[in-house]
Amino acid sequence: MRKTLIVGNWKMHLNTHEASLLLHRLSQHIKTHRDIEVVLAPSMLVLQPLSREIDPRKFKMAAQNAYHKDEGAYTGEVSFAMLRELIDYALVGHSERRHVFGETLEEVRDKVTASVRNGITPILCIGETKEEKLAGETAKVLHDQLMTAISDLTAEDVKTLVVAYEPVWAISNGSNYAKHDIATPDQVSKAVKLIRHNISELYGAETAEQLRVLYGGSSNPENTRAYLSVEGVDGLLPGGASLNYHEFPKMVDIAYQIKHSTSDV
Ligand code: PEP
Repeated sequence: MRKTLIVGNWKMHLNTHEASLLLHRLSQHIKTHRDIEVVLAPSMLVLQPLSREIDPRKFKMAAQNAYHKDEGAYTGEVSFAMLRELIDYALVGHSERRHVFGETLEEVRDKVTASVRNGITPILCIGETKEEKLAGETAKVLHDQLMTAISDLTAEDVKTLVVAYEPVWAISNGSNYAKHDIATPDQVSKAVKLIRHNISELYGAETAEQLRVLYGGSSNPENTRAYLSVEGVDGLLPGGASLNYHEFPKMVDIAYQIKHSTSDV
């Protein structure tokens, strides 16, 4: 049984004090659920102070990015090796890294490899832009992003991987998700099937069954139930909603309700 995963991407928001306040509020509003993992991805700056305040039974932490070399003359970078004591997960290949900072398929692959090498589970983000969607290239884009990123991994590594399907056209800038194109559950379902199919072709059905696939793109309490009800979706990766101490806990609660209504059947 794959564990549900709800990952809050705080992006470049909140200074140390604000991050600590949000953590405090989230701790008050989120109950500990053994079968739901709640992961917070704050900025690099606050990973260390938050790691001292966090209740590890309630939250795990993720980096939003890191550098693929373990150490060296790479001014301004922080490596996965330096983060290994602080985090369990790392976002890799988020669309903002790919499209704002120009990360290539190969750089994303090297980060996935470095993450695994350092015992950190990568949350590999893949997704097509609006132009790629309109050109009918979604399947090819997902295939290329996924297959290049995992090309240095073994089947055992891939079983523990998390892949987040994040269509770029559905990602909000933090507060405007009402104005955005929203992915339908059917679109999410097609993408998730493609992801598992690609993995199955290369690593076998058992591996494809074990890895977890998340959806991200303007997820919020109103659409959480619909996305989490899509077969093969193991969790969500909200950005904007994760900064709201009412919305994010609601999403965790809905995930818990869904988990229990299905496991009780
Ligand atoms: C994200 O940051 O990965 C994201 C999906 O953001 P939002 O939920 O705000 O669209």
